[in-house]
Amino acid sequence: MPKKPTPHKGLTAPQQTNELQRLKQQAAAYVLDCNGRTLRDRSDVERNDDGTYHVHALIAAAAGKTRLAKLTDDEIEFCHRAADVLDPSTEGALLTVYDGLRAIEQTHGPAGLAAALDTMLEAWRHDADYWRWEATQRRPLTEADIRERIEREQERDHQYTAEASLQCVASCDSCDRVRRGGKWVKGPAQPNERTYVSHCPNHNEYRDT
Ligand SMILES: [Zn+2]
Repeated sequence: MPKKPTPHKGLTAPQQTNELQRLKQQAAAYVLDCNGRTLRDRSDVERNDDGTYHVHALIAAAAGKTRLAKLTDDEIEFCHRAADVLDPSTEGALLTVYDGLRAIEQTHGPAGLAAALDTMLEAWRHDADYWRWEATQRRPLTEADIRERIEREQERDHQYTAEASLQCVASCDSCDRVRRGGKWVKGPAQPNERTYVSHCPNHNEYRDT
């Protein structure tokens, strides 16, 4: 008569549970039916601090779910500010982008969102490269630059004031003649005169031909 098999005397249930929470790489790979190297290279599988694997993390990985990373407050704040500044300005764009990203999330989970963000970053890369380059071309304003800006601003102001008080002389854009009452005389205007752009009868683009 065959001997009755003795019941398996291994670990107790609490001990087994404990082991499942700290699986070594090879055992964890066995759970996922892959080899240890493949598991080690998977960045989406969460690990314990000591490098072992919790069985729940393996189940989540097997289900294709990526647990969301816990961001720092600084990182969360960055995301809020980025969302504020990039907020699509039109109602239509916001709804389209929001609904589209939510649909991707629904289909693919968090890993889908990560892929979507990665794709958007790639699309922005060209512009980002350009602006980074542009910034290297910019030099700080010198005293001379500032003086020039002020002078340009003052000049614009003087011109506006002169035009508004009818102090300017009409000057033909094409031939430099200036209007002196009923005549257009050979220009240019006197050095102390301000002019505004006009057209003599010979260069009046609206004249009848
Ligand atoms: Zn003219």
